[in-house]
Amino acid sequence: MQDSSVLTEATLKDALDRIGAFARDVFDVPLAVAGFLDCQRIWLSSRWGVDVDPSPPLSTFFDPAAATQQVQTIEDLRQSRFADHPLVTGGPRLRFYAGVPLELKPGFPMGNLSLAGPEPRGFGEREAVQLQRLAAMAVDALRSQRASARLEVEIRRRRLGRVDLWRQRRQLRRQNVMIDLTERMAHVGGWDLDLQTGSLFWSDEIYRISEVPIGRAITTDFALSFYPGEERGKIAAAIDRAVASLGSFDIQTPLVTANNTRRWVHIRGEAEVVGGVATRLTGVLQDITSHKASEAQLWHVANHDTLTNLPNRALFHDRLAKALQYAERHSCTVALFLVNLDRMKDINDSFGHDAGDAVLRAQALRLNEGLRASDTVARLGGDEFAVILTGFQQPHDVDQPLGRLLAALNAPVEVGGHLLICHASIGAAVFPDHERDAAALLKAADLALYRAKTGGRARAAMFSPAIRLERDHQMTILATVRSAVADGRVEPFYQPIISLKTGVIHGFEALLRWRDPTSGFQPPGSIMSVFDDPDLSLMLGDCMVERATADMGRWHAAGLPFGRVGLNVSEFEFRRTGLVTRLRQAVEAHGLKTSHLVIEVTETVLLSKDIAVAEAVLQGLRDAGITIALDDFGTGHASLSHLQQIPVDLLKVDSSFMRDIPARHDNVAIVSAVIGLADSLGLDVVAEGIETAEQLRFLRALGCPRGQGFLFQPAMPASEVPAFLDAWPRRWEALMRIAAAA
Ligand code: C2E
Ligand code: CA
Ligand code: CA
Repeated sequence: MQDSSVLTEATLKDALDRIGAFARDVFDVPLAVAGFLDCQRIWLSSRWGVDVDPSPPLSTFFDPAAATQQVQTIEDLRQSRFADHPLVTGGPRLRFYAGVPLELKPGFPMGNLSLAGPEPRGFGEREAVQLQRLAAMAVDALRSQRASARLEVEIRRRRLGRVDLWRQRRQLRRQNVMIDLTERMAHVGGWDLDLQTGSLFWSDEIYRISEVPIGRAITTDFALSFYPGEERGKIAAAIDRAVASLGSFDIQTPLVTANNTRRWVHIRGEAEVVGGVATRLTGVLQDITSHKASEAQLWHVANHDTLTNLPNRALFHDRLAKALQYAERHSCTVALFLVNLDRMKDINDSFGHDAGDAVLRAQALRLNEGLRASDTVARLGGDEFAVILTGFQQPHDVDQPLGRLLAALNAPVEVGGHLLICHASIGAAVFPDHERDAAALLKAADLALYRAKTGGRARAAMFSPAIRLERDHQMTILATVRSAVADGRVEPFYQPIISLKTGVIHGFEALLRWRDPTSGFQPPGSIMSVFDDPDLSLMLGDCMVERATADMGRWHAAGLPFGRVGLNVSEFEFRRTGLVTRLRQAVEAHGLKTSHLVIEVTETVLLSKDIAVAEAVLQGLRDAGITIALDDFGTGHASLSHLQQIPVDLLKVDSSFMRDIPARHDNVAIVSAVIGLADSLGLDVVAEGIETAEQLRFLRALGCPRGQGFLFQPAMPASEVPAFLDAWPRRWEALMRIAAAA
């Protein structure tokens, strides 16, 4: 598109050209030029009529300083001050010149209209007027050019103005789009409430969040109708406070949309104050539903156990504290159960961790199913769970759920085609009956749990003060034994095992004795519970193995016929890996053989572990050449099928069956049966607790191969064994005489 200013310039040039041509015709001169000296350029008529271009120099004949509006004429340039001018002396050899100023305003010449010719000539009055008229036409042309230029500027200005406005509108539209996108992206909308008229404005996003058609007329009541009852009051109160304090408010609240979707929104508002009065409230409303959801998810992850999805220890403590607070305020009761799965380690060892995990999940499910939704079941870690029970009246009201849980947990769990037994022990304590604060209640439940476990596992126990006394007593015992071990006040005493047929000494049983600084050597009866403590029972076991093999080593070196020595092993020693290696190293260190050893295992120890695992340990002992005795036979749950399954060399009939033999018929029947059974299985038998000659006679009559008891010799210190061995044959003879007389 051509610029309109070029058009007007061309028009001016045309006009000047036409004036120049007209002047040449009218005044019959070859040269005529109309020119303006603009601030920026010289406007000239373009054509001269001759082949010269004297245009700029021509105006040098014109004197701008001369009186305005006057035609200046020079009849013969040769007679003027321009006589030596190149246009006069050379080129067109000009002689005549006439010029008139071109003035827009009088006194302000803008240029001139000049005529020139090669002949000297005069210039009359009429001609001067005509020249002035032509000049006036040139000025008009300039004027109209100027006017159109001005118009053009104005048009341009206006056009520019329009462009600006258009730009501003575009900009505004763009900003609106940006705001809209931002609103959608951030799920945040703006609102404005005119407090004087009560009229409320929502931006589009608030309509979208509320699921209301955009643009629908709204009122504050309508806006508040999206909030649940009690929230509505809170929002209204927050607004009132902001208005009264000329301040702001900031709340998070649930919102139910027009389509009944539940959301969370964050609303902020600020009062606009005019003359000390709040006139408007302006603010934003943000949909924070997904934020709340991820917050909730994070919270869930931080407070739950990943394996079972039960609350973890942190959440459990929180719930317990809250339950106790509530119970304190409303005078009600809270029960706390601590649950321990007894055989998780075995299951993990034997069936792998996946099976272990499956058992934990199954037990977690059973715990959850056995309780109401208001109760809490938590996994405290490993094989430990906890239950918080609320809403019951009496402590014994929990007996029923306690029993139900125990029964559910003690049923076998099926994993990958195996039925796994994973017994649970439960300890329970009740607020406020047993303790009042969380830590103490936990301790009480823990004591009850300990009681349940020591009572034989797969049991539940309710806390009682007696349990605490028992526990305190147990702590004292542990401390006593620990110091006895540390001070070397633990040693084996030896009780002989005798052939009831011949009186020959088969060997000895090493029995633990600990020395009390005031009352001397004590049997283990009062400290038997230490064998339930893993650390201490291992320490005692190691100590006994070390002391007994040292004693045996000395006797062996002295050539004493001490036979075999039986060592009792506790559950933890039996479970500890490397038992055979440790025993072998101990005997070899004292120049002995493994065949010098008998290991006495009780049925309880055997059955504390998977029978297959126990069998493997026993087989290892037997392969090493160690004799295996099944101790306290008849008191536990070892069945005949076990006897066939496990490698055992001899049975030790528990001393309780010796009581009132032969008067008590049931004991007579049992002892006879065991002796018969052992005989048919090719096992040796030791009758324990022989105290009387009558018992001895009876056992000999039954054909019981071996015996042990106070009648022969109570356990004695190692130092007395050599003398005992020496004196034994004579004592046996004397015993035989007594037995025969009885
Ligand atoms: P146990 O293995 O059945 O040991 C036999 C117990 O019977 C011993 O009691 C012994 O002194 C006692 N006794 C022997 N003859 C008679 C008798 O004629 N009449 C009566 N009433 N009792 C008799 P002790 O030494 O008090 O040991 C008790 C239990 O302590 C043992 O029973 C054994 O289970 C355990 N024990 C002893 N020493 C150790 C040990 O070094 N390690 C482990 N783990 N347990 C041990
Ligand atoms: Ca024993
Ligand atoms: Ca025994």
